[in-house]
Formats: sequence, structure tokens, C-alpha cells
Amino acid sequence: MHTVFVTGGAGFIGSHLVDRLVKCADVDHVTVLDALTYAGDRRNLTEAECSDKVRFIHGDIRDHDTVSAVLPGHDWVVHLAAESHVDRSLIDVGQSVRTNVMGTQALLDVAMRAGVDKVVHVSTDEVYGPLPTGAAAEDAPLRPTVPYAASKACSDLLAASYYVSCGVPVCITRSSNNYGPRQHPEKLIPRFLGLLLSGQQVTVHGRGRHLRNWLHVEDNCRAIEQVLRVGVPGETYNIGGGTDLTTIELTKLLLQATGRDADAITYVPDRPANDIRYSMTWDKIAALGFAPARDLAAGLAATVAWYRQHPERLAPITPAEATEAELDGVPA
Ligand code: NAD
Repeated sequence: MHTVFVTGGAGFIGSHLVDRLVKCADVDHVTVLDALTYAGDRRNLTEAECSDKVRFIHGDIRDHDTVSAVLPGHDWVVHLAAESHVDRSLIDVGQSVRTNVMGTQALLDVAMRAGVDKVVHVSTDEVYGPLPTGAAAEDAPLRPTVPYAASKACSDLLAASYYVSCGVPVCITRSSNNYGPRQHPEKLIPRFLGLLLSGQQVTVHGRGRHLRNWLHVEDNCRAIEQVLRVGVPGETYNIGGGTDLTTIELTKLLLQATGRDADAITYVPDRPANDIRYSMTWDKIAALGFAPARDLAAGLAATVAWYRQHPERLAPITPAEATEAELDGVPA
């Protein structure tokens, strides 16, 4: 039986992972540590917390005393807590570094002393930076261009060093863009849905040419579970295999889903460091038995349906806020 310690479990991906772990017959306990920043939402854990397997702890990964008091005794750790938004990282680089770099270091330190069996450090394809052509394998150079991605790259290197220098059994996952229910409304899909459903315009940068791979959050969580179970310590696993779409292609799907037409798009000039294309190979995770199961059309339709049923999860967006958030052409 396993006891799992999940950081950032009240966030988007973390809460879906907790839902998944609770259903595993060989997991008898899941502790969620989450600071409930603006991005964390206890409602994300409503279903999971019906299970007596789940314990929620309101705490900060950077707080060594708290983490030291609660982490020991768990055999698996999944680290998702992060400042996850590119735009915010451009406004407050320090916050990204404090949480993503120093927080990861603090967590790894406690995991090392606790002697856990496995740590999965959850990272992103954005650490590879833009690739005009080709696809990054796990050993490709890290060339992040925005502070969010740079802070995640730093945390990846720290995690790798804790494996090499200190023997902490860490695996790193790097996934492409996740979508699905319960994503914070600052991120592209819920943000655009909120604007479109309330009759407002969406702003698309640089004609929307930026290419991203879209992976359903449940597929990512299935892959993370697989790495937790059979990933080789010290190894990194790209988690891709979703659907490649440019921002304008995705926007058009959202227009269709909300019954709006192309007049709802306002095009603005591109912003600096708006990476044109991310692309990864994912044969290592495939070799562990993973393949994405969720088709984009069906997954997106279900996501839109969920937000229609939960309009309170689409933040009210005034025209002033929409203008202020002009940076929102690229999701984290
Ligand atoms: P999210 O912003 O929805 O959730 C982050 C969670 O971390 C929140 O619940 C927040 O309260 C918590 N948190 C933040 N700082 C904390 C701290 N100091 N101590 C404890 N908890 C803290 O993020 P997400 O989209 O669920 O992403 C989860 C992880 O996956 C992140 O590490 C992110 O970099 C990575 N990732 C996300 C995507 C994506 O498309 N969303 C893609 C690849 C990788």
C-alpha cells in the first residue's frame, strides 16, 4: 500500500491527480499540501475530500517546519505546487523564483531526509523554449525564454541534482498544455470562454500563429501516475501526444462551441517572448505504457459543458480587465 504526498493538490492538475489516486486500490492515503494561493481552490477537492483517504493541509512548500512535520511517513511524493502562469511571472519574477525554485529545493530537502521511495517533479515543455522545427527529446538543451519557464527549468535542474548528488529517487515529467475542467480562469481556455460567453471580444496576438500541444488533464495525470509507479529514478519523461493547435485554431473551436463568430476576435501585435512553437518527442513515456486516450474534440466539448454548468468558475471579466490582460495570448 502507498501513502502519497501531493503538493499543489488544490490546483488544476493536482486536484485531478488526487481524484485519480484516491481511486487506486493500492493507495490508502493521500495528503494534499497547498498554500491556497489565488490559484488554489478547495472546491477542486470536493469530490476527493469525500474519501476518508484524503487529508488536506493548508501550508506552504517553502515552510520547512510545516513540510518536515507532515511529509515523513509518505512513500510517494508528487510535486505540483508552483506559480504556473506565464503572464504573472513577467510581472513578478521574484514570486516565480521563490515558489518554483526555492520551494522545490525546500521540498526536495525534506523528501531527502524522509527517505521517500519516489518523487515526481511535475514540469513543463516550456523549459525547452521555442522550437521553430523539430521536437525536443528529454536530453535537449533547456532554453526557456520567460521567467515562468526559467524558474521551472531551474527547479528541474535542482531535482536532477538531488538525484545525482543526494540519491533522492526523483523523476521529472514535462507535459504540454493541459486543458479540462477546474482550470483557473486566468488560463487561455477558461478565459476565452468567459469572455465569449459574456458577449465580449477575445484578444489574439500575432494572428494566433503560436503552436501548442493540448493534452487533456486526465491523460497527464494518468502519465504522472505511471511515472510514479514505474518511472526510473533520475529520468525525465516528456508527456505529449495531445493535439497540436495554433492559438487561432483553438480560438475558432471555442467560437464554435460558444456560438460566436469571427467578429469576436480582436487581433493585436505580438508580444515579446511569445514562443512560436513548442514540440516534444514522447517515446519514453510511451515505452512505460502510456498513450493519451482523450480525443480533443470530445475533451474540449466536455470542458466547455463543465464551464457552462459552473459559470461561477469563469471569473467575471470586465472590458477593463480584458484590456489589462493583453498578455494572455499564450497559456502557461
Ligand atoms: P495551478 O496554478 O492550477 O495550481 C498550482 C497550485 O499550487 C495551487 O493550488 C496553489 O495554491 C499551489 N501553490 C502555489 N504556491 C504554493 C506554495 N508555495 N506552497 C504550496 N502550494 C502552493 O497549476 P497547474 O496548472 O495545476 O500546474 C501544476 C503543475 O504542473 C505546475 O508545477 C506547473 O508548472 C505544471 N504544468 C502545468 C501545465 C498546464 O498546462 N497547466 C503544463 C505543464 C506543466
